[in-house]
Amino acid sequence: MVSYEEALNIIINSVIELDKEKVSLRESLGRILAVDIVSDMDMPPFDKSAMDGYACRQCDLQHILSIIETIQAGSLPEHKILKDQCSKIMTGAMIPEGADCVVMVENSKKPGKDKVRFNNVNSNTNICYKAEDIKKGDVLLSKGTYIKAQHIAVLATAGCSKVPVARKPKVGIIATGDELVEPQEKVSGSKIRNSNSYLLAAQVETVKGIANYYGIGRDNLKDLNDKVKKMKQENDIVVFSGGVSMGDFDLVPKILNDNNFKLLFEKIKIKPGKPVVFGISDVDKGRRKYCFGLPGNPVSTFVSFELFVKPFIYLLMGHKYKPKSIRLPLIETIIRKKSERMSFIPITITGEGVKRVEYHGSAHISSLPLADGLISIPIGISEITEGTKVDVRQI
Ligand code: AMP
Ligand code: MG
Repeated sequence: MVSYEEALNIIINSVIELDKEKVSLRESLGRILAVDIVSDMDMPPFDKSAMDGYACRQCDLQHILSIIETIQAGSLPEHKILKDQCSKIMTGAMIPEGADCVVMVENSKKPGKDKVRFNNVNSNTNICYKAEDIKKGDVLLSKGTYIKAQHIAVLATAGCSKVPVARKPKVGIIATGDELVEPQEKVSGSKIRNSNSYLLAAQVETVKGIANYYGIGRDNLKDLNDKVKKMKQENDIVVFSGGVSMGDFDLVPKILNDNNFKLLFEKIKIKPGKPVVFGISDVDKGRRKYCFGLPGNPVSTFVSFELFVKPFIYLLMGHKYKPKSIRLPLIETIIRKKSERMSFIPITITGEGVKRVEYHGSAHISSLPLADGLISIPIGISEITEGTKVDVRQI
């Protein structure tokens, strides 16, 4: 049995990054940048006005000035500014030669046609200088960046209309269990609905993987064997839910072994999520397939995906995922009977701090939508008292 940290390290060290592909700017949202983006130009590319106003010489600010032209954003100034002259200028327009400041239109008066004088002038030049934001050759975004709206703006500025991103990993999903029926089917007797396949597909798609669903695998070697062969062939990662514990019909580790996956761990000292299986299989030189077997109880499935599969998928795409975390006080004392595993506890955030969601154990799937995050309790700790500040990992 490995610790949480050991399991993460094993996963991280097994990663061979996926190849890249190009997508349009609009399609790059949520994808992982596969190269550094270097600026091919200065920004701004010329000295430009930060205001609508008058471009002139600071030494003439106390005089009545003659307006010699109007400079629009996107057009070139035609005249140089000489003594007691100015040009009307719009925000974003190029500063004319000779001018060293812009006075805001709000600080001007018109004493006559084509004349202007200023009041309330200050030392602001109101000029954005060439290259003050970005210099040609600057690295604007680094390989491995998770692309958000603000990164798309930078890519557009850099003229990157086809964005090199990591290929989406293909993830084969299968739920195992003779007790499972699909959501559209009738539930009777000892059956329950399969929620994990849909949970996992949604979790995969949240991190921009391609989720391929292979249906319910029955708890027999033949069915699971047939399914895993196909899944392995068609995907980068195969993910099983259920069938990984100690029951007579928990066949997943054997099936994975039989299909040439080398299992790197089969149990983790965490709760929920002890029976998590991870393995690799090198199919060709440099081409690796991966497998996860996650416990079948839905909360365990969710948590073990969050803790292990999600960072793994991001890393395959070259992104070092850091879960969002905030530090808040506990508003109740948490006591646990056993402390030999690291616990992850679903919590809600209130105005005062953090408290547990009502949670009866890892089958209690309806508790999860009430949770804002997870807090962890390290091995050896059995009590965290009210008022202690805890790190909430957002989900
Ligand atoms: P297992 O890990 O196969 O021993 O399953 C543990 C528990 O999770 C059992 O009570 C199963 O009925 C339940 N379970 C397994 N797979 C699913 C699934 N796909 N959807 C909902 N519950 C499941
Ligand atoms: Mg089962």
